[in-house]
Amino acid sequence: MSANHKMDLEKIEAGVRLILEGIGEDTARPGIVETPRRVAEMYEEICGGLYEDPTAEIKVIPAEAHDEIVMVKDIAITSICEHHLVPFTGVAHIAYIPKEGRIVGLSKLARIADIYSRRPQVQERLTTQIAELLYHGDLQPKGVMVVIEAVHMCMTMRGVKKAGATTITSAVRGVFRKDERTRIEAMSFLTENRRG
Ligand code: ZN
Repeated sequence: MSANHKMDLEKIEAGVRLILEGIGEDTARPGIVETPRRVAEMYEEICGGLYEDPTAEIKVIPAEAHDEIVMVKDIAITSICEHHLVPFTGVAHIAYIPKEGRIVGLSKLARIADIYSRRPQVQERLTTQIAELLYHGDLQPKGVMVVIEAVHMCMTMRGVKKAGATTITSAVRGVFRKDERTRIEAMSFLTENRRG
């Protein structure tokens, strides 16, 4: 998807109008007459990550040699399930082990999760994309681990209607995959100080 591609808001509006007509609503009713426009603007925001390049966020900072785990926990994510176009929300935890003091700004990890989240997604791919970008990009870390915990509206408001069921996905690369002790250490960061 090219960055100069623009979202077609008129097309989204027309589509939402068709959905409203399809379910038997009166699209001229005052409460919903502006809904197609509002929904189009909402999609521009929640799918805007399609037009942003997460690789641009990886700016390597040379730092003092630190070859232990760096982890940012509980990064809030909101994404949209590509199968049902309803949200899934939760937290992402991103860990990596720097190579030769090559680090990246901590806020950039959150930005990468945000860009990939603001696209039609499935949680498995979202998890893998973050891990792959960090592992194969400029950062060249010794290892990457990404864990996402999310609640899917398509499971709570329809179908099996399991409110509160959390889906956990993980993607591990490099030393986290090869070395069980390192992986266990990272996992212990995730479970410590957990409320409830
Ligand atoms: Zn779904």
